[in-house]
Amino acid sequence: MMDKTLKTLIGSEDLTKEIKNLADRINAYYAEKYSLNEELTIVCVLKGAVMFFTELSKHLKMPLRMEFVSLSSYGAGEKSSGKVSALSLSLPPLENKNVLVVEDIMDTGLTLKFLLDFIKTKCKANDVKLAVMCDKKCARKYDISPDFYAIDVDDKFIVGFGLDYNELYRNLPYIGYFE
Ligand code: 5GP
Ligand code: MG
Repeated sequence: MMDKTLKTLIGSEDLTKEIKNLADRINAYYAEKYSLNEELTIVCVLKGAVMFFTELSKHLKMPLRMEFVSLSSYGAGEKSSGKVSALSLSLPPLENKNVLVVEDIMDTGLTLKFLLDFIKTKCKANDVKLAVMCDKKCARKYDISPDFYAIDVDDKFIVGFGLDYNELYRNLPYIGYFE
């Protein structure tokens, strides 16, 4: 991997513009269905979603509670392990709360199916929605899709803006891939 060249898929400016557009759509949904005065709990799926979570939340207009969970389905490398490990899943009481789960990328859909089921059934939250930075639709294996997403990606392994390869490259301000 290291001997391949890192190419840009989406530059930093375009990416932050798309995230701002996404925030506008999310604001519009909550403004219409509830009110922008009503609180929203946003749940960041660590570590990958961290940059997207902070960028997105800057543009959300409702009072936010920020929560963090840590899940992993990849392990090292480029292939999904096919099972989810919950490294840390402690959340405050979410009964009757509106919750927006924020994740870096939806690939097979396994991680988010697991987390959304957990928040809906165990936490008894009211309205649970899902926002992802990248939607890799072609890799989907589970019956789930994001309510909101910023960009479509095809079947490439991407890095940057939170996404890693063996824990590296999360700090890139753009999304890239190796060629
Ligand atoms: P899923 O459970 O949907 O198969 O996998 C989702 C998780 O796998 C993501 O949260 C992310 O951590 C990782 N993942 C999936 N595709 C990619 C990719 O193209 N690049 C990176 N760096 N991670 C990915
Ligand atoms: Mg992840």
